[in-house]
Amino acid sequence: MKNTINWNFDNSYSRLSNAFKEHIEPVPVKKPELVLMNQDLANELNLDFSKIDKNELSALFTGNILPKESNTIAQAYAGHQFGHFTMLGDGRAVLIGEHLTNNNKRYDIQFKGSGKTAFSRNGDGRAALGPMLREYIISEAMHNLNIPSTRSLAVAKTGEEIIRDTSLQGAILTRVASSHIRVGTFQYIAARDKKDELEILLDYVVKRHYPDLINLKNKALELLKTVINRQIDLVVNWMRVGFIHGVMNTDNMTISGETIDYGPCAFMDTYDPKTVFSSIDQKGRYAYCNQPIITKWNLSRFAECLIPLIDKNQDNAIKIATEAINSFEKKYEEKWINMMRDKLGLFGLENEDKFLILDLLTWMHQKKADYTNTFCHLMDLTKKKNKLFDDINFMNWKKRWKERSLKNNDSPKKSLALMKHNNPLVIPRNHKVEEALKAAEKNDFKLINKLMEILKDPYTQKDDILDYQIPSNLDEKYKTFCGT
Ligand code: AMP
Ligand code: MG
Repeated sequence: MKNTINWNFDNSYSRLSNAFKEHIEPVPVKKPELVLMNQDLANELNLDFSKIDKNELSALFTGNILPKESNTIAQAYAGHQFGHFTMLGDGRAVLIGEHLTNNNKRYDIQFKGSGKTAFSRNGDGRAALGPMLREYIISEAMHNLNIPSTRSLAVAKTGEEIIRDTSLQGAILTRVASSHIRVGTFQYIAARDKKDELEILLDYVVKRHYPDLINLKNKALELLKTVINRQIDLVVNWMRVGFIHGVMNTDNMTISGETIDYGPCAFMDTYDPKTVFSSIDQKGRYAYCNQPIITKWNLSRFAECLIPLIDKNQDNAIKIATEAINSFEKKYEEKWINMMRDKLGLFGLENEDKFLILDLLTWMHQKKADYTNTFCHLMDLTKKKNKLFDDINFMNWKKRWKERSLKNNDSPKKSLALMKHNNPLVIPRNHKVEEALKAAEKNDFKLINKLMEILKDPYTQKDDILDYQIPSNLDEKYKTFCGT
């Protein structure tokens, strides 16, 4: 294939020693068929697929033909899955290489669902169409909500059946990420107990993601602090839009601070802190309200990996790392409350803010109010009248909010602008996602394309979004599945 596409590979991870990965190619598929392609992302990556015909594109996005300069690997990693440590790795994914954009920004290009690797354990290395489309929809929605995320460049069907509870269509997602290095990558290398390998990983990560830290005295500690901040920012963003990741295992937490692995994730409609959608999360470990706590738990596992590099004296290293980890609550609380202030259009800091925010959340919980739409109502951007908001307690709360809004702020316009920037009008509602996936299973991609169009610009009021603002009626019984 001629390089009219403008691939510009520089595969730095594949140059690391074999402790970090296995060299393996995607397993060819029977009948490739490209079904979704993300033109906006292709443009951002300076990739041009316009001169390639559909058959060749289909072969490309299933790995049946590989770009000349790719160097395909499966990455090794470990992870705490629901609290239990396991050696994992890319069991159904292959990194085809790192593409550099015209501005020298580096992106992993990865196929998910590309066949067995050394890390497949008992799995078939494949992925089903529904979950790959789901990841495409939600990851792009997250990106458009201004939340750091891996991206989705394409989905192609393999023409093969895969066996789960039933027989399903196979598919491959092309995932794009600033890297796929996870907390679990550090756990894998730390478990091998070779300090030189750990040093190599630290240097690699700092150079690739946080070059500002290169010359600092204690790089390991600085990296820990930086990742703590990134992850706090990320989880605060999730809380802002009501996103529930669903499977926050340490192998699903990136060092870059991007949301990764859209398995059983979903957005909350009715406000309930205990909301959990994942069918396998029976104890609610990864429920909405637990996400910050689990983030801290995962960061503690990351800190443990770095101990040998933080200080030669282990006791000292533990003390320093613990201090860093213990800064989590205060930082989180501060960022969370500021995020909620933004959602309410409040400037400045007032002691009463925390109570104002908590009282609203309590009211929403008691009245089973829709999380997203309550903020739309406060922005006066709901076309449909909802009697719920005539409730006397809500009216009283609103009075307090209005009074508070007048402090530190000379312009209601500025308040509204702040709110509009932080409160999405549309999110991927569960029933809308399901409806689109159902049609796509039958080869009708109209609903997915429409949904993607709506989710492209979630903060702007438009005529055709009304249907996408209605809360899902699946709420109480809705369950999501992972790894399918
Ligand atoms: P996930 O739930 O997608 O985060 O995956 C957890 C681990 O299971 C990772 O190591 C995956 O590579 C592996 N895995 C998930 N599905 C499969 C599959 N169908 N075949 C092989 N490995 C898989
Ligand atoms: Mg994963």
